[in-house]
Order: sequence, then structure tokens, then C-alpha cells
Amino acid sequence: AMAKWWTTQKENEIIDTCLQFFGGYGYMMEYPIAKLYTNARIQKIYGGTNEIMKMLIARSL
Ligand SMILES: Cc1cc2nc3c(=O)[nH]c(=O)nc-3n(C[C@H](O)[C@H](O)[C@H](O)COP(=O)(O)OP(=O)(O)OC[C@H]3O[C@@H](n4cnc5c(N)ncnc54)[C@H](O)[C@@H]3O)c2cc1C
Repeated sequence: AMAKWWTTQKENEIIDTCLQFFGGYGYMMEYPIAKLYTNARIQKIYGGTNEIMKMLIARSL
């Protein structure tokens, strides 16, 4: 749960910065960065949402 939360959170922060770097093009589906952004976003949802990961982590502390 710790690894899932941390890696997907970090992935989204990095991809968000990359998208910002591309400006408006980063938001257009014709550009690979937009697809990377979409793919990264779901990682915080499936396989157990990151909110649920935090609950699991909290229980173990
Ligand atoms: C593309 C895709 C593929 C998938 N593939 C699979 C698969 O192969 N096998 C499989 O079993 N499942 C699969 N899923 C389902 C996936 O695991 C669930 O979507 C995920 O667990 C979230 O459940 P939910 O969609 O019902 O959201 P919900 O549980 O309804 O959550 C909605 C929101 O509320 C938040 N939330 C819920 N409960 C709490 C709480 N107690 N405290 C704080 N926040 C809370 C969540 O974090 C989320 O942000 C897939 C989903 C998608 C989108």
C-alpha cells in the first residue's frame, strides 16, 4: 500500500509537470504527453484508490 500510494502519487506529479512543460499541446490527445497523463491518472484509482491505500497504511502504524 505504501509503495502503491507513493509511486502513483509521484508519477502523477511528474507527468503533471511534463504536461505543463508542453503548454497547450500537452492537453491535446494527438501528443503522447496527453496520453501519458491520462494513463497516469487512473493509477491512483484502480488496484485500490490512494485514499484506501492511506487507510491501509494508517492501520499498520
Ligand atoms: C480501467 C479500470 C480497470 C479496472 N480493472 C479491474 C480489474 O481488473 N479487477 C478488479 O477487481 N477491479 C478493476 N477495476 C475496478 C477498480 O479497482 C475500482 O474502480 C477501484 O477499486 C475504485 O473503486 P470504485 O470505482 O468503486 O470507486 P469508489 O470506491 O466508489 O470510490 C470513489 C471515490 O471515493 C473515495 N473513497 C471511497 N471510500 C473512501 C473512504 N473510506 N475514505 C476516503 N475516500 C474514499 C475513493 O478513493 C474514490 O476517490 C478497474 C477499474 C478501472 C477504471
